[in-house]
Amino acid sequence: MKNLIVANWKMNPNSQKEAKEIFSALGGPASGWDGSNVEVVICPPFVYVSALARLSDEALSVGGQNVFYEDNGAFTGEISSAMLKDLGAEYVIIGHSERRKYFGETDETVNKKIKKALEAGLKIIFCIGETAEERDAGRKNEVLERQIKIGLKDVSTNYSLLTTNLSVAYEPVWAIGTGNNCSVEETKESIDFIKKFVKLETRILYGGSVKSENSGAYIKEAGANGLLVGGASLNAEEFIKIVKSAE
Ligand code: PEP
Repeated sequence: MKNLIVANWKMNPNSQKEAKEIFSALGGPASGWDGSNVEVVICPPFVYVSALARLSDEALSVGGQNVFYEDNGAFTGEISSAMLKDLGAEYVIIGHSERRKYFGETDETVNKKIKKALEAGLKIIFCIGETAEERDAGRKNEVLERQIKIGLKDVSTNYSLLTTNLSVAYEPVWAIGTGNNCSVEETKESIDFIKKFVKLETRILYGGSVKSENSGAYIKEAGANGLLVGGASLNAEEFIKIVKSAE
């Protein structure tokens, strides 16, 4: 199983031209990695998915950052899994903490989204993680267990999951975009805890202020099967270093 490196571009960049430039700089022979040991997925804003999917190849694929759980209808502003797949997306991030915090996403809506996206043939990057308050109150494991159990309710029994169709990204909320990345020791503890609730082959990623200086340790020492990278993924040079550290 290859390690999986996912770029979450969030609401960036501001033009399709720039999106294509960054995307093109990430792959190809000049980048120095070829995808034989690592799988890389770029998740841009929806509006760029189609253009970037046309530039994608086996080593570098494209994903969405969210999706709605209905097939179609009166849901202004939303897009369905089938639409995302039709644009050329292979993956979708579901349950990112920014969606939970700013857009009212709950464990229950995350569960509905995961099921619908799997039905449409998308591969899922399912995000979980505790807030600083939950961690300080000693509730980290309880929160992770609840997020996994509700988020994946009925998923493994009712959906024929290929092992590559579901990855879990452990993203402590306090580590996202703060520069305060989780220690390798604490990440290892959380990854070991998460493993109790998912299939043996499910890839578990780490996300939260990953940079090229710390990326390799999450793979080699904490036992992560990949990384979810936000801020650092918009800098091609830095992101390539991160990809290489996971080869
Ligand atoms: C993220 O957006 O999932 C993330 C981990 O962001 P950052 O790498 O900027 O902390």
